[in-house]
Amino acid sequence: MEYLMATFISLLALAGIILVLFYIKNTRTEKNYKKIKNEISRILNININNPSDDFLVHQIGNALKTIKERYDSEKNRRKNIYTILDNLSEGVMFASIYNGEVIKIDFANIVAKKIFTVDDYIGRSMAEIVDNHSLIDMVLKSFKKKIDVEEEILFYSPEKRFYHCQVRQTQIDEKYRIIILNNITKEKDLVNLRKEFLTTMSHELRTPLAVINGYIETIMMDETLSDDVRKPLMIIEDETARLTRLVKDLLDIGRMEKSINESFNMDTVNLSALTKKAYDFFKMLSDEMGIELISEIEDNIKITGNDDRILQAIYNLIDNAIKFTAMRNSEEKTVWIRLYKDSENKNEVILEIEDTGIGIPSKELQKIFDMFYRVDKSRTRQISGFGLGLYIVKLILDNHKARLFLESEENNGTLFRINFKGGIDDASV
Ligand code: ADP
Repeated sequence: MEYLMATFISLLALAGIILVLFYIKNTRTEKNYKKIKNEISRILNININNPSDDFLVHQIGNALKTIKERYDSEKNRRKNIYTILDNLSEGVMFASIYNGEVIKIDFANIVAKKIFTVDDYIGRSMAEIVDNHSLIDMVLKSFKKKIDVEEEILFYSPEKRFYHCQVRQTQIDEKYRIIILNNITKEKDLVNLRKEFLTTMSHELRTPLAVINGYIETIMMDETLSDDVRKPLMIIEDETARLTRLVKDLLDIGRMEKSINESFNMDTVNLSALTKKAYDFFKMLSDEMGIELISEIEDNIKITGNDDRILQAIYNLIDNAIKFTAMRNSEEKTVWIRLYKDSENKNEVILEIEDTGIGIPSKELQKIFDMFYRVDKSRTRQISGFGLGLYIVKLILDNHKARLFLESEENNGTLFRINFKGGIDDASV
């Protein structure tokens, strides 16, 4: 009984406290409201005791309430955007330009701040906070040329990291750019590791392969060998030759990847003569395979380049065109080799290898230039190759700053078009 009584008294006391607090709050709100009302009537010079003026004050109060609500929701929206930006795995910056040359960073998320050499970046020029001229040059280029720019950049400070950097224009104003940084250090390390491994392995394999080949040739010279022995030896010889080609390709790739920055030995190359040489080389093979090889080669076209490498690229493209045309079941089996000066831009030279082969599915077009990539193993199983041919072509063309276009339709054919810059006039040679 005593216990019930105590509980009742406690509840009564609690209700009393709540009532008092409620009263204080209400009178305070009431007081505040009156204060605001008085302030508004003072500013607008109206009499709040007049019912129509009081109505006006009431309306203004409502409008202010709406503005406050909007302000709060906008504040919330901004907070959410900053939270999202700070949680992105990419670095994001917002840059603006002053006097056509000074770039300032107006915003940077947490990841982007990792490339800063100072903590406080607001109001400072980009050169003061980022120790990397390539990135600053990229942003300047985007402002000056009014274009989006994309590059891979190595940062040494504050830490050694590789970033894929994009500078994008905004729809807001020409004065602003968005900079996006993607940390690709791990991918780059892996790629370098793979390259190192391949080069080392290729070097190690070269000598034993040459030895095996030498011994097989010697053994095969013995005319008393029975067919039972000769046949497996011939298979070993073929496979050794295949491996030797792979090793040679890998060593070539290693050399070319190194020279991307140093560039090949360049000289004047008679592209017409090179293309004809490639045509002559493949003519007999294509005839044997029932493929018509057509050459439409303009005379005396010269460019600056490395003739061995260009010939290698042309060979790879024609070799593929013939291989994949032979695979298609069709009446028309033709491969065209064309070389001509661009009619619109006399400085550009165009080389085309077109075929009526099995074509390439559109979803594969981007990938076929990757190392070791072969479209659908089942369709290429009968055909030898390691998926290195086009990777080599791409490396050679990159070294020559040539552009490569590819058009293909499955079961219809493929066209590779190369644009070489800087055709040399005979008069200037
Ligand atoms: P591979 O040595 O295996 O031919 P490439 O790098 O030269 O490797 O080519 C990669 C892949 O691209 C090929 O496996 C093939 O599927 C496709 N390809 C290349 N050229 C052609 C072409 N002219 N027609 C059809 N497919 C092609």
